[in-house]
Amino acid sequence: MANCDGYQNVWVYIESEDGAAKSVGLELLAAGKRLASGLRQKLVAVVIGADVGAVVQQAASYGADEVVAVDGAAYRRYTAEAFVYAFETLARKYKPSVILIGATSNGREMAPRLSCRLATGLTADCTALDIDAQSGCVAWTRPAFGGNLMAAILCPESRPQMGTVRPGVFKKAAPVLGKGVPVMREDIAVPSGIIKTELVEAVTAAAREAVNLEDAAIIVAGGRGVGSAENFSYIRDLAEALGGAVAASRAAVDAGWLDHVYQVGQTGKTVQPALYVACGISGAVQHLAGMSAARAVVAVNNDPDAPIFAAADYGIVGNLFEVIPPLAREIRRMSVCP
Ligand code: FAD
Repeated sequence: MANCDGYQNVWVYIESEDGAAKSVGLELLAAGKRLASGLRQKLVAVVIGADVGAVVQQAASYGADEVVAVDGAAYRRYTAEAFVYAFETLARKYKPSVILIGATSNGREMAPRLSCRLATGLTADCTALDIDAQSGCVAWTRPAFGGNLMAAILCPESRPQMGTVRPGVFKKAAPVLGKGVPVMREDIAVPSGIIKTELVEAVTAAAREAVNLEDAAIIVAGGRGVGSAENFSYIRDLAEALGGAVAASRAAVDAGWLDHVYQVGQTGKTVQPALYVACGISGAVQHLAGMSAARAVVAVNNDPDAPIFAAADYGIVGNLFEVIPPLAREIRRMSVCP
């Protein structure tokens, strides 16, 4: 092994927005805890922002042993330049052995830049994290070859070992409210001139819906079988009757019927609702990769041999345009009954 001495602890980046931690960081604390105890190291949360007191407390409540916090006006709004600079400064000082970052839009931008500056490897979009018994390295598991096999990737030659994980892949632990942990506060001034971007406008509506999808208890998803953007009114109607969120397969997104923020699957969102209703979706492995953690799956498809039925708890073989309207009507009728 190359020189990996002196690197220790598992770091989790706690991304925040408007003074609150995003779910993915808290989910990664649960996954990081298992790695840290396997490696007999500490679980450290990294918080970067402005007025981060509440986020630091959240990180402590969700399992961090320690928190490293960078708090300053320069970090009020995310910029890749400032956040990567701060993270790099921290990593060089503390030498973490492992860094976990949520694969959000910001995380996907930060992580590769950081790994490049630290001259180490990065495994993106991991779906499982373990310790490799032989090498003691983190085994980063992620889909490869179009999702047809799962690859376990090791980073034996450099430190830190880095990976990103999409929101919804791991579950948060139950919080222990009011827990106090050591907080290392770092004052990192952003060098003048490094920020090359300017926020012109923040468009939050689509992003808010995307967050809802990851947290949704009920999701109704439409695929190519829906046929057009207008026909998604069938999917919306059923979602509304169930009090759920709308999602789509990549085929529906690629056809331009719905925005990419609605896409579920390997290159979309990973969701874990109590109920997932797949309408006009064939059940390709890349779609299943995003919804197989659903507690119950209902499939509506007019092809009895569609692979989605193998992943479904309940299957309705039929034309979705004939199946959905009476289903939505009946659900509405039942929900107004005492
Ligand atoms: P189709 O496979 O065309 O299935 C449509 C289904 O609708 C069929 O089963 C048909 O029987 C049924 N149908 C048609 N008309 C009706 C009707 N009137 N009533 C009921 N049923 C009807 N896909 C994703 O979804 N998410 C991803 O993140 C994703 N990432 C990918 C990443 C890679 C690297 C690759 C290679 C592919 C990825 N894909 C992803 C694409 C994936 O392989 C499939 O092509 C896609 O999921 C198919 O979408 P679909 O099921 O909507 O369409």
